[in-house]
Amino acid sequence: MSFPKIRDITLRILEVCGIQSPPVPMAPILERFVARVVDSGHISESALMRSEGAWVIRVNRELREERRAFRIAHEIAHIYWAHPDNHQGDPGLGGNLERYCSKFASLLLCPHQWFKMDAPAVEHDLARLKNLYSNVSHEALAIRLSYVTPLVVTIYDNGQLYRRFSSPGLGHPPDGQPVENDVREKVDIYGKYRESSGSIKWSGIKRDVQVRGYPVFSGKFRRIILLTAPSSGTGTQDDPDYEDDMPYPFPDY
Ligand SMILES: [Zn+2]
Repeated sequence: MSFPKIRDITLRILEVCGIQSPPVPMAPILERFVARVVDSGHISESALMRSEGAWVIRVNRELREERRAFRIAHEIAHIYWAHPDNHQGDPGLGGNLERYCSKFASLLLCPHQWFKMDAPAVEHDLARLKNLYSNVSHEALAIRLSYVTPLVVTIYDNGQLYRRFSSPGLGHPPDGQPVENDVREKVDIYGKYRESSGSIKWSGIKRDVQVRGYPVFSGKFRRIILLTAPSSGTGTQDDPDYEDDMPYPFPDY
């Protein structure tokens, strides 16, 4: 099973269910797979079971919306691959099933074929992508974005660096570059989107960059996501097959 193959599988499911644009609703997919969701307080995240000839997906009722959608989509992947006809002769499916199910979930909620069109159409703006893909987390969308346009992604949670990574092959300097700090501080103070331009040197190259900062605040939890984009060579990559060897772990929604 390859990631491009999973892309095709999930897209076909969406087509069969008559879903043509984001956000991807779970109800028609659940109906198609004769599955229902039951909220539960007694499981860590989600669990799949059979009951009276139908599938039941139990989901922890405390999960936030994006995580809930991701877990339901993950369990739908298990249902899909529970049918031997869907193994497509892949002997490696068993050992990698959890990984494939998470990839399936990611691509079901945010199909690559849609995302590579939508991302440039909204100028790679994370807030506008979130408006489209409302049941996918900002973090997951930022990760996906880094695969369609050159970006350094930096995430701060409550003032602490949570993760910093870049598009394949781009590399990045240490976090806290002046232009990035400036944007981050303003987002923190005003609680609103901010952007700025400047230059940052890394891997021996001085690059003009645009830094965009997004507040993702929820109660006392304050996440700030910075997208640092080099202004040269920012053309959208056209459906590269990099996802074949995309580094794991894939976004945990
Ligand atoms: Zn699983």
